[in-house]
Amino acid sequence: MELHVKSAMNREEELKLLIRRFLELIGEDPDREGLRETPSRVAKMWLNELTRGYRVNPKEYVKVFEVNEYVRYKDLVIIKDVPVRSICEHHLLPFFGYAHVAYIPSKKVLGFSKFARIVDAYSKRLQLQERLTEQVADFLMDVLRPKGLLLVIEAIHTCALVRGIEEPMFMTTIASRGIFKDDEKLRLNTIKILKELPIRGKNEWIKDYLFNRFQ
Ligand code: ZN
Repeated sequence: MELHVKSAMNREEELKLLIRRFLELIGEDPDREGLRETPSRVAKMWLNELTRGYRVNPKEYVKVFEVNEYVRYKDLVIIKDVPVRSICEHHLLPFFGYAHVAYIPSKKVLGFSKFARIVDAYSKRLQLQERLTEQVADFLMDVLRPKGLLLVIEAIHTCALVRGIEEPMFMTTIASRGIFKDDEKLRLNTIKILKELPIRGKNEWIKDYLFNRFQ
């Protein structure tokens, strides 16, 4: 335990020095007042928030219930608007939006809030939206063993907004597994339902962006 804490401290200290050097290299004075706390703040942010997913085992979040009354329910379960906050691995800039999960259960259901934890564990890493979508879909297939699963992630990429084309880039990725992969009609209908359901996430301006995209 003590060793673990120590190595985490060393990691943070080393990262602090790197960020200080980074500030120098881009032409800043890391000793000026506004930047004095920046290396420490940024090191903590990267380790404890933006990349915390590396130090999390999503399996620890999973409590799968085999519940008899759910066995009767053999139709679509939709969990919408799970926040996605991630970092693009090409530019180290954020991309963010929402994930929507649709699945047809077999015998297992997953605690509702766990979806958000699982998406978070895979999001808080350096990611590609395509890979994030595949990883979460594969993980859910593995733990839930549903008849089929569809995972849609819609996100805005700030690496296109603050550089390059200087406009936000919207990306939708869809992973289908099981019967959603085999049954095209079911897949298309479910995507239609997902599009028609309003976005209920709390963040108004992300909602506006994503909503306008569909018009
Ligand atoms: Zn990027």
